[in-house]
Amino acid sequence: MPKGDEMIVISNLHKWFGDFHVLKGINLTVRNGERLVICGPSGSGKSTLIRCINRLETHQKGTIVVDGVELTNDVKRIDRVRQEVGMLFQNFNLFPHMTVLDNLTLSPIWIKKMPLKEARDLAFKYLERVKIPDLAHKYPNQISGGQQQRVAIARCLCMNPKIMLFDEPTSALDPEMIKEVLDVMIDLAESGMTMVCVTHEMGFARTVADRVIFMDVGEIVEENDPESFFNHPQCDRTQLFLSQIL
Ligand code: ADP
Ligand code: MG
Repeated sequence: MPKGDEMIVISNLHKWFGDFHVLKGINLTVRNGERLVICGPSGSGKSTLIRCINRLETHQKGTIVVDGVELTNDVKRIDRVRQEVGMLFQNFNLFPHMTVLDNLTLSPIWIKKMPLKEARDLAFKYLERVKIPDLAHKYPNQISGGQQQRVAIARCLCMNPKIMLFDEPTSALDPEMIKEVLDVMIDLAESGMTMVCVTHEMGFARTVADRVIFMDVGEIVEENDPESFFNHPQCDRTQLFLSQIL
């Protein structure tokens, strides 16, 4: 797909958890190669929104189209979208009983039916890319949080995603480990990956994002390029939020 084509198109998206209206008419287009940062107060619906993009949550109204496939209850469509979308969570979500290498080769072998040797070669290629090939035979609890998050990124990359979603990938990390994960994310951004990142790492947003959106109580309140967003926030709610985190 050419750079700049529409990769994710979200139109008038509404979601409720029971009676609670969590997403209230979200409209958002993400283009191929774009780096979008989503920020906003806790509880504003950021995680719910990006979880809807790979159908970890279902929506009740509006549409989500990912690389031309509209998400519905059809499991074939959901599978197709999930094959293209990698997701990083706050808490790494590695399989604790498997080595780093086995965490990386599991999906290529079982979902893509890749031969073992090829899957291992691929795993090492991406472990090298995230600069931890020496940890291949460790278990998740034997390595640091920053290393676990880099393993989680390598695991996504083994599935060759077109889009990566990040849900506060550094917020569970000790401060000294944040940079090693952000460096890998910056490297990914430079490679042209389409990225949607929920993060409060404003340094990352300033240097990497093409666009920043600010969410509050289930709505997109403001959206702009990083320079305008940080230097000249338009809405009171954005100004208040930025004054609290910067
Ligand atoms: P954020 O990521 O911006 O902090 P979330 O998307 O996690 O916000 O949550 C938005 C709101 O939806 C919060 O009020 C949260 O308590 C609520 N919520 C999230 N997940 C669920 C759920 N599974 N059931 C009910 N309420 C939920
Ligand atoms: Mg969240």
